[in-house]
Formats: sequence, C-alpha cells, structure tokens
Amino acid sequence: MSGSMQTGIPNQPDQYVVIGNPIAHSKSPRIHACFAAETAQRLNYSTLLAPLDGFVATAEAFRAAGGRGANVTVPFKLEAFAYATRLTSRAQAAGAVNTLMFDGADIIGDNTDGLGLVNDIVRNAGIPLQAKRILLLGAGGAARGALLPLLEQQPAQLIIANRTLSKAQQLAQAAQAEFPDLVVAACTFDTIPTDCAFDMIINATSASLQDAVPPLPGSVWQAQPLAYDMMYGATPTAFLQVAAQHAAQCRDGLGMLVEQAAAAFALWRGVQPATGPVLHELRMEMQVAEGA
Ligand code: NDP
Repeated sequence: MSGSMQTGIPNQPDQYVVIGNPIAHSKSPRIHACFAAETAQRLNYSTLLAPLDGFVATAEAFRAAGGRGANVTVPFKLEAFAYATRLTSRAQAAGAVNTLMFDGADIIGDNTDGLGLVNDIVRNAGIPLQAKRILLLGAGGAARGALLPLLEQQPAQLIIANRTLSKAQQLAQAAQAEFPDLVVAACTFDTIPTDCAFDMIINATSASLQDAVPPLPGSVWQAQPLAYDMMYGATPTAFLQVAAQHAAQCRDGLGMLVEQAAAAFALWRGVQPATGPVLHELRMEMQVAEGA
C-alpha cells in the first residue's frame, strides 16, 4: 500500500496525529515514537485537539497540510467512520474508525481496536481463543469493534451481556449472520447462563471509568477464566479486583492500546513494530507516575 501513498512535505518527516477531545493525556505519541525509533521510520506523531463540533474541519486542515494519517479517539470514532471515503471490512463491522490513512484523494478508514485486543490476548498473554467460551460484557463501540476479530478466532461460544438488552441482541444478530457456524448469543447481566464455564470474560463496558463493576452472577467465575478489562491503569480496575477475588487470571487493556497502535503503524508504514518493549516501558512509567 505504501507505494501508492500520497507523499507528504518533501524532506520533512511524515506527519501523523491522534485526534480527540480531550487528548493531552494520550499515550499514543509516546508509543508511536518508540515504534518509529525501533523500525527506523522517519515520522512525527503528535496530539491534535479538535473542538467537539469540529472533527472534520480539524482532520481536513491536517490533511491539507500534508498529514499522512491519524488515529481517532473519543468522541470522534463515529464521525471518522462517516468521514472516510473507503472503509476496511474491520471498520465496516465495527461501525467506527480509529485509524485514518490519507492516500491521494482517498481517506481510508480502519478499526484496529479489536485486532489489538486479540493480539494482546493471543500473542502477548499466549492464550488462544479457538474453541474458548467467551463472555463479552458491553455492547458499545469497543465491544462492537472487538466482535469480528474475536469471532475470526473461532471460539466455541461468545455471549454478549449488556445492561441494555436490545443493543446486545443487535450485535449478536449481526455477528451470527456473519459467522453462522459459531454460537453467538445475547443476554442481560442477570440472565447470563449460570451453567456455562467461561474461559474468558472480557469487560468492554465503561463501568470501570465510574469505578463500578457489572453485576455478574458468581457462577461466571467457576472455571477461573481470564478476566480482561479493556480499561487500564496503574492499579487494577474495580472489575479486575473482583476477578482476582475469584482467582481469575487478570489482564488490563494497556496491551490492547499498544497493539492497536502497532496495527495502525503497520498500515501506515508497511512495517510491523515489536510491541513488548513499549508495553513494558509504559507499564513501568505508569506505575512510577502514580506511585503504585
Ligand atoms: P461506549 O460508551 O460506546 O459503551 C459503553 C458500554 O458500557 C455500553 O455497553 C454500556 O451499556 C456499558 N455501561 C456503561 N456503564 C455501565 C455500568 N455502570 N454497568 C454496566 N454497563 C455499563 O464505550 P466504549 O465501548 O467506547 O468503551 C468501553 C471501554 O473500553 C472504556 O472503558 C474504554 O476506555 C475502553 N477502551 C479501551 C481501549 C484500549 O485500547 N484499551 C480502546 C477502546 C475502548 P448500555 O448499552 O446499557 O448503555
């Protein structure tokens, strides 16, 4: 893909940004600077704050100035989906875009969040998803983005539990149509099947942002599953604290963040960066900064 790409400003490093609001907290510039150094790619990556009503104008100004690509974060992933002129199948399935690549007149929209999640579980944690029984909590943007990449791994069963049942049902129906041979179901938290020994529980709700935990029946922990919270922090999230009390194996979403960045980097630059050293560094820095 890189051969056909629009060139940026001659003799200048290629420019990339992450667009969001707020954005100052973003770890993406740090991650991409590490990737660029490691792969000897000449590029700059910085944050770009867009006004809440000005995503497209901000992205267009950056593109007009020779920008080569952008990550997109809260609250603009749906607007980025509408802004793209070409969508990858992952972005189409997710209904949201977190990665833009400017290629001549084309604005290519991709979604690397779900791939980031899968790569963190399969490669970094070394846990295959094939034939596993997965409980996915939440039916918002992150769950939707994760669904296709998770099902591509051929789990035995994937149950989507959400506070609002209709949203889980919509996701399950679309996923079932795409993967008719797999078992995909929807429920609320209080109708989660109690006779299913889950191998993995993935928290894609935003409950951890409010220090809350979805109300799960105690039976979900019976097989000591992997508990994965897409949120991350220096200390375990409320969900991971509950999981630890049930002797579950715990993992937060920092690896997902690094892996989704690596997939975007690979799309832009045609080279796959190693993620382990960056993940290790970020974890150390975060713990030192927060005195954990
Ligand atoms: P959305 O706002 O799109 O969806 C939120 C979801 O959480 C909905 O399913 C909502 O249920 C549910 N929810 C909210 N509050 C509660 C609660 N108190 N109890 C139970 N369910 C609740 O958010 P996103 O999908 O964009 O993000 C979800 C999480 O994933 C966030 O924590 C985010 O930080 C994280 N994330 C991490 C990434 C990473 O790289 N590590 C990347 C992307 C996201 P309902 O439908 O009923 O409202």
